[in-house]
Amino acid sequence: PGERFDTSLRDYSPGESRALSSPEGVSKRTETFRNTPDSDPALPQNQLWAAAIRERAAHSALGRATLESHTVVTSGELERRIQTAVESSWSELTGEERAAVLHRAGEALEQRRGELLEIAAHECGKTFDQSDPEVSEAIDFAHFYAERARELDHVDGAEWETAGPIAVIPPWNFPIAIPAGGMLAALAAGSPVIVKPAAVAARTGAVVAEALWEAGVPNDALQFVQFDDRELASALVKHDAIARVILTGGYETAEAFLEMRPELDLRAETSGKNAIIVTPSADYDLAVADVIHSAFGHAGQKCSAASLVILVGQSGKSRRLRNQLVDAAKSLRVGLPTDPAATMGPLTAPVGEKLRRGLTELGPGENWVLRPRQLDADARVWSPGIRAGVERGGEFHRVEYFGPVLGVMRVDTLEEAIEIVNDVDYGLTSGLHSLDRSEIATWLDGVQAGNLYVNRGTTGAIVARQPFGGWKKSTVGATVKAGGAHYVASLANWRLGHAKA
Ligand code: GLU
Repeated sequence: PGERFDTSLRDYSPGESRALSSPEGVSKRTETFRNTPDSDPALPQNQLWAAAIRERAAHSALGRATLESHTVVTSGELERRIQTAVESSWSELTGEERAAVLHRAGEALEQRRGELLEIAAHECGKTFDQSDPEVSEAIDFAHFYAERARELDHVDGAEWETAGPIAVIPPWNFPIAIPAGGMLAALAAGSPVIVKPAAVAARTGAVVAEALWEAGVPNDALQFVQFDDRELASALVKHDAIARVILTGGYETAEAFLEMRPELDLRAETSGKNAIIVTPSADYDLAVADVIHSAFGHAGQKCSAASLVILVGQSGKSRRLRNQLVDAAKSLRVGLPTDPAATMGPLTAPVGEKLRRGLTELGPGENWVLRPRQLDADARVWSPGIRAGVERGGEFHRVEYFGPVLGVMRVDTLEEAIEIVNDVDYGLTSGLHSLDRSEIATWLDGVQAGNLYVNRGTTGAIVARQPFGGWKKSTVGATVKAGGAHYVASLANWRLGHAKA
């Protein structure tokens, strides 16, 4: 074993993390906070949760008018909107001018922080502790990409021109930051945008677009459209005038886009099946807090979520760690997204067939160490689940479930753990908890994923510092990381040989 040292990237307060993960069984503290009892999940108020969210969304006016006036029902209407974008003079602005608008967009998003939190809670069930950092990320995108827009005009030996309109097709799980990031990057690169948010998150997307219009992005350069229709989606992706498509969604969606239009310049961030490895040298208290946050934040509905934890070492020690994880998961407060104390909210939509299997069925050799419970009639509110004994090559090792369920595996060596991490089709994020330099080096060298995190959770990439993007089947098309130095430039077209005066 190598030398021990503290690599934690943030302030470490031992008292705080121990409160979350008291080592020996269920402490009094855990009893007090316990919100997800094994015995009686059907607390009366749980029945009301999903209904209450629907009710609030129905009564909120946020985003509604924009959504209604931008809903497209015919292909002729879609065509008109694309043509309007084509004719926009946005690309004629200088980098300096575009940067000024994008910086103002950052300010407009800040002003709408409260509205964004509210609509994301009502529409998507996103808790404030999850959506607040998303607004910050959107603002970071605005200021960071504004500066990249300015730089485009000052590249020696090359000149850029707009690629043409870019379609942005964001997901529902990050309904603020991902649409904002796509729109802002394309605009920074001088491209008009056609943005089509996910249907369940359309009003949140509309509020983001409103902020950008308010900041001075012209209406013709930012076309917000909404439809729930395969033919219109295919017409958009296949349209000759659309220069590139920025997609965040499932791997199958990305593949379908390429089937529709094989020469498409697609920038897709897709699925993930991510693990955190914890070695015996780790600070267990830190590791537990990070695994729980990465697995159950936004009820596990993130491509970047950790849905596997691989414990390295003797079974006695890893059993202790497993108990800490169970203890900590039980202390999560499952609740309404508008409850500021809630640490796990509902699913954005009622549980689908695949996730229901992940929440209710066990594979060979597996057992529940914390059985997830359905807490409402709609199957949107679930308590967290942890299954132990996940087998290498088994379904839970390889399949992305996108929900509040974590699998535990135990192995003897770090090398074996790395093989397990790599033995999946995806490679989005990956985590290691270890305080041993040589273990960290071995892992960094061997693991196949786009975003690697040492002694930190696997979610919450940071604009500029940790650009976000995957490897293997977690990305389709050109692999330039969002939030990185080259993302904007990669969206423009370049001509070489024009030296700047
Ligand atoms: N950018 C997000 C993060 O770092 C993940 C995006 C996603 O899950 O789609 O957590």
